Amino acid sequence: MLFASTRNLLHRVGFGAALTHGLAGDGGLYTPTEWPQLAPRSDSADLPALALELLQVFVAGDALAPALAAITREAFNFPAPLLMLDAGARLGVLELFHGPTAAFKDFGARFLAAALTRARRGARRPLKILVATSGDTGGAVAAAFHRHSGIEVAVLFPKGLVSPTQERQLTCWGDNVSSIAVRGRFDDCQRLVKQAFGDPALRERFELSSANSINLGRLLPQTVYYWAASLAIRREHGEPASFVIPSGNLGNATACVWARQLGAPIDAIVLAHNANRTVPDYLQQGVLRPRPSVATLSSAMDVGDPSNLERLLALFPDPERLRGAVRAVSIDDESTRERIRIDYRRYGRAWCPHTAVAAEAYQRLAPNERARGRWVLVATAHPAKFREIVEPLIGATLTMPQNLARLFDRPSSCTEIEATLDALSSTL
Ligand SMILES: *Cc1c(COP(=O)(O)O)cnc(C)c1O
Repeated sequence: MLFASTRNLLHRVGFGAALTHGLAGDGGLYTPTEWPQLAPRSDSADLPALALELLQVFVAGDALAPALAAITREAFNFPAPLLMLDAGARLGVLELFHGPTAAFKDFGARFLAAALTRARRGARRPLKILVATSGDTGGAVAAAFHRHSGIEVAVLFPKGLVSPTQERQLTCWGDNVSSIAVRGRFDDCQRLVKQAFGDPALRERFELSSANSINLGRLLPQTVYYWAASLAIRREHGEPASFVIPSGNLGNATACVWARQLGAPIDAIVLAHNANRTVPDYLQQGVLRPRPSVATLSSAMDVGDPSNLERLLALFPDPERLRGAVRAVSIDDESTRERIRIDYRRYGRAWCPHTAVAAEAYQRLAPNERARGRWVLVATAHPAKFREIVEPLIGATLTMPQNLARLFDRPSSCTEIEATLDALSSTL
């Protein structure tokens, strides 16, 4: 299959090229040009097999096609369990945090790393991946690409502005991964990456790429767990599943919409945003007003101008049609805290602040809607990753998942730079 830029449907490239470029040359985002109706036969519990069956149509015709089985085995090497919270199985939680850095971003990052490493074999120059991160993305990308040959990763983060757990995950790698603490804010890190892409001298030295959630290689694999969960619910109850998704840059939500578009038995999709309410406002008012982000408890969703909205609008090009496809709500920090307290008492489960935004959005659905549907809360991170926030609310100590705990045993190192392109160039 070919993938077209959202800004020019005639600009089309294959799978490998879309992954390597990240962004289309015209600034648009790569999107599938066809929506075949898929009917996978694999057992939904076998994620690598299901992924191979679902994704082969996208990779068909590309040089990577023969490697897809190996890529999906490497990427989907941890589970995405679906657990029911009530006796009637009307509400479940899809746990996406069993990977190396305990957040859903591990799925996309690991798939992208496995695919790009193979796409680069025999290339003349190493591929240099630059990632600006405010926390979670950088850790997932660093973990996924660590010790992959032919690829170097530089992670830029704002010095002193990420949590201690996050800083640890960004600086514990070495080898082909370098960590750069920028004396500035997240916006400075992002600006530096953009400037680097536009700098002829750097482009001479390296082939540059990005690994943030605009990369198609992160979105497509995320469709797989929506298929798995919705197929399991249909098999068990004969009904489609509805999802409530903690949303920021809309990468995870776009994957769910794409899965439904490809035939997955999915009914409603609710986008649960924090106080960054650009998308809920757009659906309500019909006017798109991107704005600077505001800081909240669910920091990985602090996005005021979500990139992947461009992909949703490519499918549903006006507010009316988008309203028919998804719903969106905005939840404030106080309600998020309260939801963590209440649900811990009710279910004995601790939510990370992002997942709690979805849990609160679910509570705000009409009671008859909750009673009719088969709802799934998408749990995007392990609560222990945000223990500073969660533990005081639930009055209990959380255990770090083993994967995450292991990172704390590794030595940590990083280079500190001024927020200038010169400073960045000389460390690369
Ligand atoms: C990145 C992230 C989100 C937001 O996902 P998007 O794809 O950007 O909408 C939600 N929760 C957690 C824990 C994240 O790391």
